[in-house]
Amino acid sequence: MPFSFEADKYRGKAREKYLEAEKRMIKIHKKYPEVKQAYSYLQSLKREYSMAKVGIFNKNKMQKHEIKELEGAIKELEKQYHAILKKNDISLNYKEPDWDCEKCHDTGRIYDGQKYVVCSCIKDELRKKKQLAGNLPSHLHSATFSSSNLNYYEHNIMKNSELSYFENAKKIYKMAATFVQNFKINEFNRGLIIEGPIGSGKSYLLGCIANALIDRGIRFRYIVYSDLLQQIRSTYNEENPSQDEKKIINDVQDIPVLLIDDLGTEKASDFAASILYQIIDKRYREERPIILSTNYSLENLKKRFPIMGERIFQRLLEMNEYVELAGNVRIKIIDEQQEA
Ligand SMILES: [Zn+2]
Repeated sequence: MPFSFEADKYRGKAREKYLEAEKRMIKIHKKYPEVKQAYSYLQSLKREYSMAKVGIFNKNKMQKHEIKELEGAIKELEKQYHAILKKNDISLNYKEPDWDCEKCHDTGRIYDGQKYVVCSCIKDELRKKKQLAGNLPSHLHSATFSSSNLNYYEHNIMKNSELSYFENAKKIYKMAATFVQNFKINEFNRGLIIEGPIGSGKSYLLGCIANALIDRGIRFRYIVYSDLLQQIRSTYNEENPSQDEKKIINDVQDIPVLLIDDLGTEKASDFAASILYQIIDKRYREERPIILSTNYSLENLKKRFPIMGERIFQRLLEMNEYVELAGNVRIKIIDEQQEA
């Protein structure tokens, strides 16, 4: 509460919020003098009451019935004060800061009874920063292995397989989770190439991997290949193009884990093939894994990259595990949302 608030005790966001609330209160009190008057009077009565309770005025101690009267007066004034606020359409909480986090009041820490611990809002904020740094799109921010529902995959057996769609998805999710668990920097880690039709949940799986990497403190970059090409092309109009292009490519070559979503949606061209080769080749030589998703079969992907296609995919297969995610979970999820 602003009047009793010791601003120096708080730092950063909490302090800002308190100061903001104080400003708001001063503004309201200026605009509505009757609010200020009622509030000030109420505060003085409350002060008098608490002092009477602890017996500060020892010389002429208040009688019990006088204290009772004071209590009644406070209650009555409080009612009037609230009525004035209501009449002027002012929230009862107008003096309170608007906390972003109700749990820790934006101080970032909570007392658990014995010691201060970091509040979950700080962890969430850090997570968000890492998601942004990794270029993870917002629709994948909440994708996690623990919250993924594989029951969206059918329980009937897939074509040319002994597994059901569900069992197959379970196997692939397990492989993906194991990849993250076992990942060690500067060691060879086998990545994944995930082929599957539209709506089979490939992007969601990439989101789960990205968020699990964040939990383990491992840096990643998520790209849709067509976006990356667009980004590189856009540097050609600028003053120092080779430097920028180099930096963009270096970033995806050097990041510990590279996630390429939806390879094959870009326009097929020599340019697309040569950039992809540069990325894959360096990662191959330096043994850095790729998690790649595509709607295309490997044969069809090769055809999309006539130049170096053979070499690109030979390297990709050498360094990564190839799996097929099947089923159409997107339709099921949409159906469910419409029913809800
Ligand atoms: Zn918090």
